[in-house]
Amino acid sequence: MRRGLRLDLKKEATLLAWTLRRAAPPSKVRIFLNLPGAASVRPCVEPGESVRVGQRIARPAGPHTVAVHASISGVVSVLQKFLHPYGGEAEAVEIQSDSKDEKIPGLGEERMNWEDLSPEELKKIFQESGLVQMREAMVPLHVKAGRGIKNETLILNGCESEPYVTSAHALMMSHPVEALKGAEIFRKALGADRIHFVTEDNKLEVAELLQSKVYFLKWKQVDTTLLPALYPQEDEQVLGRQFQEADGKSPEILDVTSAFAVWEAVARQKPLYERPLTVGGECVIEPKNFWVRNGTLLETLFKNAKGLLRQPEKVILGGPMRGRVQKLLDIPVLKGTTALLALPREIAGGTGEEEPCIRCGRCVEVCPVEISPVMITLAAEKNLNELAQEYGAGECIYCGNCGFVCPSRRPMLELIRRVVS
Ligand code: SF4
Ligand code: SF4
Repeated sequence: MRRGLRLDLKKEATLLAWTLRRAAPPSKVRIFLNLPGAASVRPCVEPGESVRVGQRIARPAGPHTVAVHASISGVVSVLQKFLHPYGGEAEAVEIQSDSKDEKIPGLGEERMNWEDLSPEELKKIFQESGLVQMREAMVPLHVKAGRGIKNETLILNGCESEPYVTSAHALMMSHPVEALKGAEIFRKALGADRIHFVTEDNKLEVAELLQSKVYFLKWKQVDTTLLPALYPQEDEQVLGRQFQEADGKSPEILDVTSAFAVWEAVARQKPLYERPLTVGGECVIEPKNFWVRNGTLLETLFKNAKGLLRQPEKVILGGPMRGRVQKLLDIPVLKGTTALLALPREIAGGTGEEEPCIRCGRCVEVCPVEISPVMITLAAEKNLNELAQEYGAGECIYCGNCGFVCPSRRPMLELIRRVVS
């Protein structure tokens, strides 16, 4: 049985015009060099130094780190620790724009012989171009490609099941060939035999469009599967379970936005410094999908969408189910940020007090990884961490389904995080 939630998707506002808009470059960006507590990278610029778009501002400092690049041209104003959108602090570079948007030489131009590069050369380009999985976890793509085993499938993940979020949908509609070519490059780096494109059954037009473009590839083995539009269909663990290889291993999975970034880095010499992002929610005047420079502040993004109609109850980086609630607008987006939402009180919830568990079992029914949220959280409340682990707390993918359906409004995610962290 497939578990998940059929949510009210609320995607019409941004899909009415699915074109990806390009806003003016921001006047300031704050670019984090890594996640809080993660292995650091080596900054290679100093305050006062001028930089151009695409210029490297930090070098990788180990096998699990990637280079970081300037997303605007201007002057480095600060290099210090800042509050990170995921909590805690991390080192970041702030750049003040010179309004010239001057790019490094060669950026966007075709790379000579890119189709003949070896898997090792491709992985080196991934690392030097700052490529990471463009979802919350931001796993470096050279690390993902390095896990490859021969004869396996690459799943090209075109699912996008959280309400409001349509940035991947818009990208697939506007750049289907580039996304497919990026997947093909990643397949080669991975050493997989075939590409399998998956999306949800409410994106039939996307599936047909991509399938119609497969003839642009040298490698024409691309199958397509439509899955039920259940949340959290796009989660890699959930998808991996559905497409297990005959030997029980999960296939490697690459989301379409990352595939597009692979194509840009390898074929067009463009490091990862911008991404498609949905600015949405009922409090936004003109919800839209934009190309957004890495490190753009939330307040700037809301201005790009003509501002806010009313005071939001919640501002969320990512989707409403598993995104990160932000208290400040002086916070930047990251390479893994899919959306910025401003939700009013009647949508964001927050009404009613938490009550005791009534053992209704709804949380168990909707858990996509088939663990027992009720038993984990009851153990967590009593600080019985080992018992919580026995009930599978470590397998939680933090999708938020259990908290969403709980009639007692118990803080399920908060309790689970307490025993896992
Ligand atoms: S226990 Fe974890 S994986 Fe299961 S529904 Fe809750 S948040 Fe999702
Ligand atoms: S959904 Fe809430 S009330 Fe029902 S069993 Fe789970 S934790 Fe208890």
